[in-house]
Amino acid sequence: MLIDLQSTTTLSNGIKMPWFGLGVFKVEEGPELINAVKVAIKHGYRSIDTASIYGNEEGVGKAIIEGIEEAGISRDDLFITSKVWNADLGYESTLNAFTTSLNKLGLDYLNLYLIHWPVEGKYKEAWRALETLYKEGKVKAIGVSNFQIHHLEELMKEAEIKPMINQVEYHPRLTQKDLHAFCQKHGIQLEAWSPLMQGQLLDHPDLLSIANKYNKTVAQIILRWDLQNGVITIPKSTKEHRIIENSTVFDFELSQEDIKRINQLNQDLRVGPDPDHFDF
Ligand code: NDP
Repeated sequence: MLIDLQSTTTLSNGIKMPWFGLGVFKVEEGPELINAVKVAIKHGYRSIDTASIYGNEEGVGKAIIEGIEEAGISRDDLFITSKVWNADLGYESTLNAFTTSLNKLGLDYLNLYLIHWPVEGKYKEAWRALETLYKEGKVKAIGVSNFQIHHLEELMKEAEIKPMINQVEYHPRLTQKDLHAFCQKHGIQLEAWSPLMQGQLLDHPDLLSIANKYNKTVAQIILRWDLQNGVITIPKSTKEHRIIENSTVFDFELSQEDIKRINQLNQDLRVGPDPDHFDF
């Protein structure tokens, strides 16, 4: 149910994850980062998405401590995601990377840990490590990011535990129809990164006309479209007014017709790397 910013979806293992969260990609350590995370918590965000490669886990951790105190909530009210970077994929190396992330964040467990990219020949060993961490209770849910259907099929051949999440690039120019259907069939919740196409869609005429109709901004229309399509979304902003704007999407509903209109903007167009052709 989409009631408010704290509304959750239930993952395949029964863990509840907020539909909406804050992304902090490209936000460097420092006051801007700490302020953004604290402001988000103050305005009701409960989910924060970081990664070891973002180089900002320490700041996120500091902001969590200060943010929960100011908001009068506890660590358990938050849902914290991090990701293992490509260079650390492997059994022991992933276990070590997890410990490093946890220490930087200053936490004693993560809510979600993801394999950041499907590096061929490496992600299966890393998945075994995630399964170990999950069984040990150090992380409440485990998943992947940037996995195509064939990566998921390959992973699930030997996996003991199915990924609960696949976090992928997803916006009106990249609707990931086949991947989404595959994930739904296997109980893998899709999560959108770069939901706003990094700001590149905000003056699209069709989206502007839909936005005018609902008296909302284009960003709000896109983020609401994510939710009504059953996709978790984690837009990034460091500006308080946008952190509020982006999350004010629980007070209106898009018609099925408008959802279809937005779906039709798909061009299979990426702003980020292609998971089948990346060299990092
Ligand atoms: P987004 O699509 O969330 O767009 C962020 C950009 O849009 C920023 O420049 C931001 O600027 C601007 N913006 C945000 N809200 C508004 C608004 N209401 N009006 C106008 N401009 C706005 O891009 P991201 O790439 O950051 O994706 C979101 C998150 O997804 C990341 O932060 C990260 O956590 C995750 N991610 C994961 C990846 C993966 O491989 N798993 C890859 C990429 C991202 P400003 O801050 O100035 O407001």
